[in-house]
Amino acid sequence: MTNAPITADAEAALLASVPNQLFIGGEWVDSTSGRSIAVTDPATGRTIATIADASPEDGVRAMDAAAAAQADWAATAPRVRGEILRRAFDLLQERADDFALLMTLEMGKPFAEARGEVTYGGEFLRWFSEEAVRISGRYGINPEGSGRMIVTHLPVGPSYLITPWNFPLAMATRKIAPALAAGCTAIVKPAELTPLTTLLFAKLLDDAGLPAGVLNVVTTSTASTVSEPILSDPRLRKLSFTGSTAVGVSLLKQAADGVLRTSMELGGNAPFIVFDDADLDKAVDGAMLAKFRNIGQACTAANRFIVHESVADEFARRVTEKVRALSVGRGTESGVTIGPLINEAAVAKANDLVSDAVSRGATVAIGGHAIDGEGTFYEPTVLTGVTAGSDILRNEIFGPVLSIIPFTDEADAVAKANDTEFGLVGYVFTENLARGQRLIESLQTGMMGLNVGVVSNAGAPFGGMKQSGIGREGGSEGIHEYLETKYVLTPNPFS
Ligand code: ADP
Repeated sequence: MTNAPITADAEAALLASVPNQLFIGGEWVDSTSGRSIAVTDPATGRTIATIADASPEDGVRAMDAAAAAQADWAATAPRVRGEILRRAFDLLQERADDFALLMTLEMGKPFAEARGEVTYGGEFLRWFSEEAVRISGRYGINPEGSGRMIVTHLPVGPSYLITPWNFPLAMATRKIAPALAAGCTAIVKPAELTPLTTLLFAKLLDDAGLPAGVLNVVTTSTASTVSEPILSDPRLRKLSFTGSTAVGVSLLKQAADGVLRTSMELGGNAPFIVFDDADLDKAVDGAMLAKFRNIGQACTAANRFIVHESVADEFARRVTEKVRALSVGRGTESGVTIGPLINEAAVAKANDLVSDAVSRGATVAIGGHAIDGEGTFYEPTVLTGVTAGSDILRNEIFGPVLSIIPFTDEADAVAKANDTEFGLVGYVFTENLARGQRLIESLQTGMMGLNVGVVSNAGAPFGGMKQSGIGREGGSEGIHEYLETKYVLTPNPFS
């Protein structure tokens, strides 16, 4: 399908194949609420599917199923757990176009980008299928010599995974794969705006041979009421959340009552620093990726382009030319590079941030408006000369708006970059090796792209400092979010 036009019939056939019920204990079941959620295509505003809207009782049912399956799953050989994930990876490759199209339909990203997300999201299945058999411990002599110390790692237990709407597949696999590899059962609650990909993925895991109850899916329009009984259930041992800092803080408070293990991937406000010694071609290409991938709707999206005053005009001129060449439209159409924003609220937010920046002295180089008509589209936009105090420097834009602020020297750039409560990722463009190395230490972010505009990789620890989160997903670190450390002391066998 990748190169063929996407037809209305192909869309309808795919949508008809997506489950519309809850997945609990290995069965597709109706919600006890009897209510449903209408899922819309943000490019058209039309309803594309109607699915079950879980009640709090359904949340408890999912908790029961996850708890019931926990002991057997933890006792399942790591090799067997890994092979189920590997089968899921293989099935995902076979069904890649279906998953990509589904994401385009429910979330809006261009099909080619959605295909890229299938690759990225799939890599977590492959990576953690390999990590499942590498959970190691250690054996040693205590400092006094009187005993022998054993350190081993055991599954944390039933885990609650809450995912956002912007990467419907990758945010799910990034949590589900390490949880399952570690031997944890899980309940996943996808975002209400984009639940279809998770439902189709649960079907894929079922086809891959995942035992009943190991993964359960609850879709709901009332996230807090359905989550409350799950979070307060003493059988739950772990919460992993990706979403806004405000919701993350509220969930951390709830998790405190049960002293749950938590992983939090929260908001970002990424600086993108271009030094006067940067290769501007590289910087401009990196900027287009860091800003416009996913229509700017990524926590890793560059939010503030901090550019040396001597190259700021030239950088602005070059990115504006690139932005002029972007093509806005429904992501199913060939050649489209910018899809719609997720909803009206996202468009209103972009509008407000741009208006505020302009009222404080910024200049619109291109774009700057919502696009009238069907769907929730916003023009790709470049703002120059954004001034201190503008809301756009404090808020995650989550839209296709590139805002440039000039700086004078390295200390000024670092001060501006770190002037935020967030610390997820930073991008640095410089050809000066020592400067690049200094920035690794002075930039207060969990991740950094040095002369690159995208850092995400299944083999790397993804996560933030400061209010951007707690814990890491992916890499060798990722599986440890779902493992307890157990230490055992035995006497010196020689004494
Ligand atoms: P965004 O602003 O990107 O939509 P949110 O933080 O609002 O991010 O949502 C991320 C995920 O958290 C979604 O699955 C959403 O349904 C869920 N969520 C939002 N509020 C709560 C809550 N009070 N309890 C549990 N989950 C929630």
